[in-house]
Amino acid sequence: MTKTDQRRGDNLEPCENCAVQTPHEVSIEIRTESDKPNNAKFSREPYRVIRCLMCGTTTTARMNNA
Ligand SMILES: [Zn+2]
Repeated sequence: MTKTDQRRGDNLEPCENCAVQTPHEVSIEIRTESDKPNNAKFSREPYRVIRCLMCGTTTTARMNNA
């Protein structure tokens, strides 16, 4: 399940590729992590997916505030 919260051109973020602050499209994605096959407890972590509207570079950052 993916919840998308898009705000076009409303988020200025530094882009490594552009080397300047550029408008980004930001969405939040919940990913289920299971690094162990027998692990009954799955970790669901929110990721912040930002895409540079200038060059199209997508950056995914884990949002772990725990
Ligand atoms: Zn860029």
